[in-house]
Amino acid sequence: MPSFTILIVEDEDAIREMLVMVLDQSNFGSIEATDAEEAQKLLDDKVPDLILLDWMLPGISGVEWARRLKKEPVYKDIPIILLTARGEEEDKIRGLEIGADDYMTKPFSPKELIARIRAVLRRSGKIQGQSQIILGDLLLDTEQHRLTISDKQLEVSPTEFRLMQFFMTHPDKVYTRTQLLDQVWGRSVYIEERTIDVHIRRLRKILEEHGREDLVQTVRGFGYRFSLQG
Ligand code: CA
Repeated sequence: MPSFTILIVEDEDAIREMLVMVLDQSNFGSIEATDAEEAQKLLDDKVPDLILLDWMLPGISGVEWARRLKKEPVYKDIPIILLTARGEEEDKIRGLEIGADDYMTKPFSPKELIARIRAVLRRSGKIQGQSQIILGDLLLDTEQHRLTISDKQLEVSPTEFRLMQFFMTHPDKVYTRTQLLDQVWGRSVYIEERTIDVHIRRLRKILEEHGREDLVQTVRGFGYRFSLQG
């Protein structure tokens, strides 16, 4: 389940579809509108975490709609990233002046867009620093030392926490016990390989309480894989 919902307001179908896909790949949910009026209706149903707003829209322009939103107490705190084909410095300043949180000139790379979205969400306090790792409905916070599944907290030991941190940053790949030892415990520590099995068993037991023991998969004769696909 995506953790954040982004409202995309863009009249060009190809760009809008590209944005939906890029967001989906980074586990952001999206809702779409082709103009400001449609977007306004969507806001009545759900307040998104961020708005990607095209400057040049048919009818009310993106910049005009942003200006209106910034005057509404209910909507003024929704971060806005303006998307525009115009690259002039003057436009950028105008966009930021009306209260947009960032400004991107088309064409932009998907990677840059996601980085900007994360930065804006971070600045607005929706994501805290780089300390959070989000994978599906799993959230691991290295600063708060917290691990949750669908907002429910898991009680794990420091070792199992590190194991989860490694797994969540390396999903869908198979690791041998030796590789896990090196990566999670470090080369200098002497631990028998079967100790890993013990920790994996404990971890699975905790995940089982949330019906998610299938996240950690045994690959016979090789090792373990962590995957959201069972
Ligand atoms: Ca447009």
